[in-house]
Amino acid sequence: MSDCIFCMIGRGEIPASVVYEDDEVLAFDDIAPQAPVHTLIIPRAHYATVADGVPPETMLRVIEAIPRVAEAKGVAGSGYRVIINTGPDAAQSVHHFHVHVLGGKPMAEGMV
Ligand code: AMP
Repeated sequence: MSDCIFCMIGRGEIPASVVYEDDEVLAFDDIAPQAPVHTLIIPRAHYATVADGVPPETMLRVIEAIPRVAEAKGVAGSGYRVIINTGPDAAQSVHHFHVHVLGGKPMAEGMV
């Protein structure tokens, strides 16, 4: 989508601090980190949410990128949290499917 900010990052039209990339997915640091490590993983192709018909192969590639990001960011051993905000109640603000990888500090128990 031409006006989607994550599509633009995926096409290299907007700068990002890239952590991992291949032909299908891109991982880059969040511009407003909520933890010492806060990296986003996106498919290059546009899907609004995790429930927007993401092909299984693309979903697999996104999931496979999670441990790669954790390794690259140095949190594979200490642990990390993975979040996929979906829709209004989750306060999804960018409507291009993305996975948050958060870590680098002990986090509170629970999800919210
Ligand atoms: P969500 O609320 O799950 O939709 O998360 C969207 C995330 O995208 C937020 O954590 C934002 O800080 C992040 N974000 C928005 N624009 C950019 C950008 N240009 N580069 C990196 N992260 C961004």
